[in-house]
Amino acid sequence: MGISEKIEKMADEKELQRSHQDIDKLFNSLKNLEVEGMDEILIELKNLKETELYKRLINAFKTENSKQKDRLITSEELSTVPILKLADENLIFGDLLTNVFTASLIFAKLFLSIYSFIEYIYCMTQERPTNWADILNIFFSGLDERIIFALEKFDEVDLEDIPEPTTEYFQMLRKVRWKDKKAKKTYDKLTKLMFEMMYLKLDFPAFKKWPSTYRSTEDLFIRLLSGCSAVNNDRVNIEAEDVVIAYKTFFKLIKTDVTKYKAIPERLYGIEGYNNSLKVGYLVCQKCGGYYQIQPGESPEDFTDECDCGGRFEYRTSLDN
Ligand SMILES: [Zn+2]
Repeated sequence: MGISEKIEKMADEKELQRSHQDIDKLFNSLKNLEVEGMDEILIELKNLKETELYKRLINAFKTENSKQKDRLITSEELSTVPILKLADENLIFGDLLTNVFTASLIFAKLFLSIYSFIEYIYCMTQERPTNWADILNIFFSGLDERIIFALEKFDEVDLEDIPEPTTEYFQMLRKVRWKDKKAKKTYDKLTKLMFEMMYLKLDFPAFKKWPSTYRSTEDLFIRLLSGCSAVNNDRVNIEAEDVVIAYKTFFKLIKTDVTKYKAIPERLYGIEGYNNSLKVGYLVCQKCGGYYQIQPGESPEDFTDECDCGGRFEYRTSLDN
């Protein structure tokens, strides 16, 4: 090892030490903020520090962003997603500049972070890049609405019990601000802690070459969920507790098998050729001839292979013979 490499290695070790110290400091100051539910978040963060989950998630981000896409979802198709349509109609689209000038916390582009995260978790769970059928499940399963309206209870509610997304809801989101310094501090410290966590979990020094896109996507996702938590409670001010709920939702989401949320067939009518892009076919009973048409988002493996009559189902791509 040459001298310059040695120096670099020492610098890395020092950096690692600094990161550990910063994490400890952040844990303490977050505890001292006395926000309801913070204890649970700190436990989740300790787990994150000890497991490989975060690393796997960020690797999935990397996989998804470098994969060959067989088909891109068009902006026309995206506008058939109710949430994205309403966000587009009621919020500023937003980039860094408009954000600075309008001081709007919630802008339309943030909503894309919901689907991005579902996508990364999809990739992480299946240990392969997502395909077109997965993408349709990601955008059209209603998981987006579950997350926005039920937050950390997204997996406990029935889709029918979730309120319809309305213009009023998005108009309120547009007005969302931090309630006070405590709320902003809670957000800032938690995002800083997540940054340090990422730093710690990824291999030194390769991390330095990593794009910052993952970081901003996660931070903006948390901000969006915090805003939704406020508006769900009929407020336009984000309180510290809303940030805690946003993180609770995030931690639960990354541990959930999101592949169980399948595209709702009626929502796919705006997708060109969706029937061909999915494995759609029939399960035909060999005894009574009864059949079931497999819906987009479903798979033959989802069903029992025995018919009510006692006969066996066979998978067919068509009913022709
Ligand atoms: Zn039968």
